[in-house]
Amino acid sequence: MNAKPEPTSFAELEFQYSFTIFAVHFFLTLYKSSTMVNLILFGPPGAGKGTQSEKLIQKYGFVHISTGDLFRWHTKNETELGKRVKEIMNSGSLVPDEITISMLKEELDKNPKAKGFLFDGFPRTVAQAEALDTFMKAQGTAIHFVIALDVTEQEVRSRIAKRRTIENRIDDEEDKLNKRITEYFTKTIHVLPYYEKQGRLKTVHGIGNIDEIFKNVCAILDTK
Ligand code: ADP
Repeated sequence: MNAKPEPTSFAELEFQYSFTIFAVHFFLTLYKSSTMVNLILFGPPGAGKGTQSEKLIQKYGFVHISTGDLFRWHTKNETELGKRVKEIMNSGSLVPDEITISMLKEELDKNPKAKGFLFDGFPRTVAQAEALDTFMKAQGTAIHFVIALDVTEQEVRSRIAKRRTIENRIDDEEDKLNKRITEYFTKTIHVLPYYEKQGRLKTVHGIGNIDEIFKNVCAILDTK
């Protein structure tokens, strides 16, 4: 004789429902973290982050997040944020973390479907690096690679002197540039040990042929 099935209780249904939601969320997170590649390009002003970023975006389809470009966009378009940061940027100083981190978070939220992010000029302080890790974790992903372009101060100065004659960026003027280089060597450089300790830091020699440097960066990315 067939036993009559017991009616499923509400608590049981609720349990099954929560379990299914948990499982779907878990596998989606797992899928996202296995397909997404997030990269930080690191280096002093004039290291070639912009040039390499363009090539990397073309090849891998990253969403490019350059905090320098974003700040320039805001100042050019005279937004509230732009007005707050204009003087700071033009002097060559770093914009305070609180402003930079909230602008970055907004950019991340605009791109929920990104295949991967390329961060250029961010993070520049340890507090920014920690905030970025928190944001990535909340998205079920992480920073997979930090690639530092290794370029000497002398090379950086000569590249920016050349760029000064072409682009006319206020912060490329000699005294502002000195300030940016000081900011890099006193504050930003401390971000490197943060990633080195976690085994995420790779260094690429950043002087020489642009395509050769690109090839070396790609070789690192292709290990994932
Ligand atoms: P650089 O050529 O010096 O690397 P960027 O174009 O990346 O310059 O940035 C220009 C300016 O924007 C910086 O000097 C600084 O004032 C501001 N800025 C950009 N990114 C950051 C950041 N992550 N934190 C604080 N300030 C930033």
